[in-house]
Amino acid sequence: MMSHAGYTYHRQLMGTTISLTLFVDHKIAAQAVFTLLEQLEDIFTVNRQHSQIMAINRAAGQHPVAVDGLVFDLIYQAKQASLLPNSYFNLAIGPLVKLWKIGFNGHSVPNAIDIQQRLALTDPRLVELNANARTVFLKKAGMALDLGAIAKGYIADLVKVMLDGYGISQAMINLGGNVLTIGNSPISADHHWRIGLKKPFTTDDSLLGIIKVKNKSVVTSGIYERYFIQDQQLYHHIIDPQTGYPLDNELQSLTIIAPTSLAGDVYSTVIFGMGIKTAITYLKQLNSIAAIFVTKDQKIILHTKQQYDFEQLDHQYQLINDYI
Ligand code: ADP
Ligand code: MG
Repeated sequence: MMSHAGYTYHRQLMGTTISLTLFVDHKIAAQAVFTLLEQLEDIFTVNRQHSQIMAINRAAGQHPVAVDGLVFDLIYQAKQASLLPNSYFNLAIGPLVKLWKIGFNGHSVPNAIDIQQRLALTDPRLVELNANARTVFLKKAGMALDLGAIAKGYIADLVKVMLDGYGISQAMINLGGNVLTIGNSPISADHHWRIGLKKPFTTDDSLLGIIKVKNKSVVTSGIYERYFIQDQQLYHHIIDPQTGYPLDNELQSLTIIAPTSLAGDVYSTVIFGMGIKTAITYLKQLNSIAAIFVTKDQKIILHTKQQYDFEQLDHQYQLINDYI
């Protein structure tokens, strides 16, 4: 489709609407991107027969499984993220995700004993990687990888490489809330891309505001994406690897602005559980990462080292600009 905003191509994939915006009408490149996404969805997802992740999970406690280079690389990066000090990211969270079924039919709060049993199957150190043979082995039966928190970011970065191969250096790819902007924007006066920040728990497309970026990824993790309510308590889809229950702190969402979409995906989960105070200390060592915290008591805290322009649209929330 052509509009004043360039050429935008849409496709339903990976359980969401994918959009790709280009500034030349390059249908062949767009088609190649969607074909790549279809192939990657097939090998990364946990719910498909051909998925290499499924094959690894089925062989848990039995034998290592050889995988493609890309799959190995993604798992390697996911393991690194899981082993970062105080990380809330855990690539082996699968048994708990399956127990909670959040976002799927049949969800309810599991009993505490089941949660404890599953917790024992989520130690990321028990994911054994062999780089030479390119194999992955889950050392205990019942273990399961879940790359849901990181796969889209990894894939978005691959799309960037592919577009580069077609000589395309200005584009935006949106994998259902996981946005990667490539180069600067040819259609805005200030050359920045305008990325909307969703207002938590609204059914329409209300935005809290718009963050302006160029050549950056903007990734949000939120407790409002998938959740259920039982006995007035909200249970959402990001699980605390320490407790086995959904992460519970003052945050509604955390948006990470990063040079790569993988980094955005990784840090939006690594940091989410820390809460704001610890997260801000943690971010001090990460020069290229900026964060937008949205809290349950309706604050938007913009924590950045470079100056970012944020246009606030919802004034029920209080904007705090923590530019250091
Ligand atoms: P979204 O699917 O909304 O983009 P995230 O990127 O925040 O969400 O990833 C959430 C998904 O990651 C969950 O649906 C689950 O599959 C998986 N997951 C849940 N908790 C963790 C965790 N602590 N570490 C890694 N992955 C997780
Ligand atoms: Mg994520």
